[in-house]
Amino acid sequence: MNSQVFQTPIEYLKGVGLSRAEILKKELQIFSFEDLLRHFPYKYIDRTRFYKIKDIQPELPYVQLLARLTHKEILGEKHTRRLVIQAQDDTGIIELVWFQGIKWVEKTLIIGKAYILFGKPGYFNGKVQMAHPEMEPYSTEALQRKGNLTLQPAYNSTEKLKQFSLDSKGLQKLITVLLEQQLKDIHENLPLYIINRFKLISRSEAYRNIHFPEDTSKLNEALYRLKFEELFLLQLKLLKNKLLHNQKFKGNVFSIVGNFFNQFYQDKLPFTLTNPQKRVLKEIRHDTQRGVQMNRLLQGDVGSGKTVVALMSMLLAIDNGFQTCIMAPTEILANQHFQTIKELVGDDFIEVALLTGSTSKKARNLLHQKLESGELKILIGTHALIEDKVQYKNLGFVVIDEQHRFGVEQRSKLWRKNSIPPHILVMTATPIPRTLAMTLYGDLDISVIDELPAGRKPIQTVHFYENQRLRMFGFMKQEITKGRQIYVVYPLIQESEKLDLKNLQDGIDTMSHEFPLPDYKISIVHGKMKPAEKQFEMNRFIKGETQIMVATTVIEVGVNIPNASVMIIENAERFGLSQLHQLRGRVGRGAEQSYCILMSSHKLSREGRIRLDTMVKTNNGFEIAEIDLQLRGPGNIDGTQQSGVLDLKIANLVTDQELLLQARKCVEDIFEKDPQLVLPENQILNYSLQSKDQGLSWNKIS
Ligand code: ADP
Ligand code: MG
Repeated sequence: MNSQVFQTPIEYLKGVGLSRAEILKKELQIFSFEDLLRHFPYKYIDRTRFYKIKDIQPELPYVQLLARLTHKEILGEKHTRRLVIQAQDDTGIIELVWFQGIKWVEKTLIIGKAYILFGKPGYFNGKVQMAHPEMEPYSTEALQRKGNLTLQPAYNSTEKLKQFSLDSKGLQKLITVLLEQQLKDIHENLPLYIINRFKLISRSEAYRNIHFPEDTSKLNEALYRLKFEELFLLQLKLLKNKLLHNQKFKGNVFSIVGNFFNQFYQDKLPFTLTNPQKRVLKEIRHDTQRGVQMNRLLQGDVGSGKTVVALMSMLLAIDNGFQTCIMAPTEILANQHFQTIKELVGDDFIEVALLTGSTSKKARNLLHQKLESGELKILIGTHALIEDKVQYKNLGFVVIDEQHRFGVEQRSKLWRKNSIPPHILVMTATPIPRTLAMTLYGDLDISVIDELPAGRKPIQTVHFYENQRLRMFGFMKQEITKGRQIYVVYPLIQESEKLDLKNLQDGIDTMSHEFPLPDYKISIVHGKMKPAEKQFEMNRFIKGETQIMVATTVIEVGVNIPNASVMIIENAERFGLSQLHQLRGRVGRGAEQSYCILMSSHKLSREGRIRLDTMVKTNNGFEIAEIDLQLRGPGNIDGTQQSGVLDLKIANLVTDQELLLQARKCVEDIFEKDPQLVLPENQILNYSLQSKDQGLSWNKIS
């Protein structure tokens, strides 16, 4: 009913007007009634109890007391001029101070009278005092009124707003007007059966109580209702989009499991698949039989064996007459996939081709022909392979490695490569907590490989302080003598590339000094180098010509050098958790025991310590991602920054995960029973979906 009222421009609210409206828009992005309604208090001040003066400590938050004024005087001059009033109860005396409005306050407050005082205690000249308390003459009525307003909302405001009398109190007044005059009855937007099932209070009651709680338990009920509503509507829209996508995009049907797949499985696969690998293959098999385009995100730690799953899915596509490709973010990675896949399938099984920026014109032309004729079934490359010139006969299955570098736009470019868009499998080694993933990737289904192949030796991680550096050098020597290779990584100092290089150079100098081994060589890779130089240095290391690779973080994600068994991270405290985990993932790929050494100074922030401790404690990427999420909040997790989905107003993806899962499940059940939302009890959801209430940026959802 009042969905339109929600969208009323804020200047139409009584007490706002044009100039206040402008400042509200500018400072708090409050444009409409709804925006103001959803400007929630950031805390509540407890006015349920009265303190005794003797119990008042300067550390206390806002307190309320009953006291009689006993004395007043104006002290100081000019800048130090202040009004000091003494107030007393049966336990002691407290000083009240005013620096502004002295004249008025002095005139209004009467010595000998009792007042209800409210303010924040502090210290001044060694005495407890209160500056600018709110004062109200004591009376039984006043007391009653206070008793009703038990929790007082506190709103974020700004200096600018305060100039327009829109401090917390001022905003509170506006919200009172809004609720009393404009939004007496806030329409419900959830079906009754859901309200009953989750024991929710009504929307109207919830908004009233979030601003002006009757008591703590009502406040909690309001929070619960509004959080649930927010998460529920988010999931409703996400899953609705997914359903629409499924209706809109037909998918190729892979009806058979044929020779390529079977032969590979029986004759070529050099190991048994892990259970998660089998499960993901089943999921993909299921997806590709439905006649609906698959969009699947495959998450799995480095080394969990995503590539073979991708390859086997591609063979399935080929068995059904389609072409396939793998797209990697860099040439090095494309190259590596090319080598790996060629090795896995063997020489005379099927042709595998590579297409990158470095592919010669002649080779490129030949590739183009073979793709157009449909002769070539497996192409691996960088985004060179989605350029417009590259035409496929019938591209049916696309694998994208390291998803966050490919935006939605690039994905949709792929869809247009075929009249029926190809199935898409996006692989990432950056685990994202499940709750975050399901919110972030609206139209993607999610598969997880959460188990490493058997027999893998977990990487051992230690944390060394600067004074243990010699031990570290000793360890490096020992490993190099065994024939292993070592990475030494320095953090990138964004503000100063010079400092970066200096850090790196100092490190190398110390190393050569402390490290008089006759026959070891160092590769150096840093941001200032040209791509060709980098590649050259990388290749020397890959070929084993150098034993140590010193680098800023520019070393490629996912580079696979099985003989490298030690990762040393300098100034490890400067890296984020997911970065540390990514870096560590570059070792532990061979048969040998691998190690990760985190070097740090003694000075560590609390968070820095948690990060390093976490790394030492666990190798599990999902566990690490959870802790990362808790430390940094959802907006800072890799790849999520641009996502408007995370602008949740009241729910929190970290602390409200349980509720999110419940809301998600609830929405799934609804769509299972009533995919078109035609049942009478679900009509209200159609309105909620169309309603502009709750300004989430839907266009940003991928
Ligand atoms: P990811 O791409 O997930 O980091 P890869 O696919 O590169 O991992 O696999 C890492 C290594 O593990 C490869 O050498 C691969 O051949 C091997 N591997 C994959 N699956 C298995 C398995 N089920 N058993 C043993 N080794 C496996
Ligand atoms: Mg990989």
